[in-house]
Amino acid sequence: MSNVTRMPVVFVSHGSPTLAFDDVPARDFLVRLGSKLPRPQAILCISAHWEAAIPSVTGSDAPSTIHDFYGFPQALYDLRYDAPGDPALAARVVKLLEDGGHNAMINSDRGLDHGVWSPLILTYPQSGIPVVQLSLVHHRSPADHVALGRLLAPLRDEGILILGSGGAVHNLRALDWNNRSGITEWAGAFDQWLTDHITAGDIAALSDYRAQAPHAGVAHPSEDHILPLFVALGAAAGAAPSVQGTQLHRSFTFGSLSMSSYGWGI
Ligand code: ZN
Repeated sequence: MSNVTRMPVVFVSHGSPTLAFDDVPARDFLVRLGSKLPRPQAILCISAHWEAAIPSVTGSDAPSTIHDFYGFPQALYDLRYDAPGDPALAARVVKLLEDGGHNAMINSDRGLDHGVWSPLILTYPQSGIPVVQLSLVHHRSPADHVALGRLLAPLRDEGILILGSGGAVHNLRALDWNNRSGITEWAGAFDQWLTDHITAGDIAALSDYRAQAPHAGVAHPSEDHILPLFVALGAAAGAAPSVQGTQLHRSFTFGSLSMSSYGWGI
């Protein structure tokens, strides 16, 4: 493994399932992102859209494209992302988690949900890079997800891109459909707090965001879209108590849907 570059860790906000068709700055960012990163040997993606009772990993060598949304144009259901799976990587992830004291399992039937393929279809459109998805864990805290992420850090030295995919601010009931480019005040404040603490590398404050960040409960009525950020944070930190990240992109759609994305080790 001596010639393998240490891979960065990335968190992206994936926004609406229609992202691949939307003329928005976040789409352009994702299209350009691949050229800014060393080409990975495989991608381990943690998406907001898969939670399981214990950490679960896609084990298929040809994962299907899951269209896990309703009421969108047919063109979206016709999209396929035919990335190969990587059963050996899936087994390696389970081993790392088990060695860290967790029960973990392979799910051989599960495909890739839109939290995975919607950004990847823009960033790696050729879909030749193997992709494995790791689930979130039901009823587990941000700190628990940081701890899971820390166990994945060795993969960075094995050419694996660890990619969290969720949303920096995600409250679908608060969207302002007529707001094309403005920023809703509370969403901007929460997003700025998040960025400031990621930049400072303050894992303790970030893990306590629900108590410390302004408007946290409004920004995340449920935690599913921010939890992938904590797995990424842990993977970026490894054993270190703190790790400084950078904001790779910032934009908002519909007033409050933040598309902020972050990177570590870039
Ligand atoms: Zn989502």
